[in-house]
Amino acid sequence: MASIRRKKKTTIGKHVGTCKFCGGSVIDKGSFYGCVNYAKTKCSFTISKTMLGKSISQTNIKKLLTEGKTNVIKGFKKGENTFNAALIWDEKEKRISFSFEK
Ligand SMILES: [Zn+2]
Repeated sequence: MASIRRKKKTTIGKHVGTCKFCGGSVIDKGSFYGCVNYAKTKCSFTISKTMLGKSISQTNIKKLLTEGKTNVIKGFKKGENTFNAALIWDEKEKRISFSFEK
């Protein structure tokens, strides 16, 4: 893999975890996280950096990709409601979903 070093302080290109679809590297692409194999195999694995008005920290993205679950994130907004939930990787649906505390 070619490494591109930029002087500018940026997290773009930073490896955050392993792709749930193809096992490739998931990197910071600026406004979202995505699989490096997108260019090669059109792997469409992406994670948005903001969900329901909350920005998801890189720590939580790493947790999601390694453990399948983030910490509980407070203050998601849906319409009039605000709620707290952890993000989980749904193996069946192959997508991210919300996990509510019971
Ligand atoms: Zn991939």
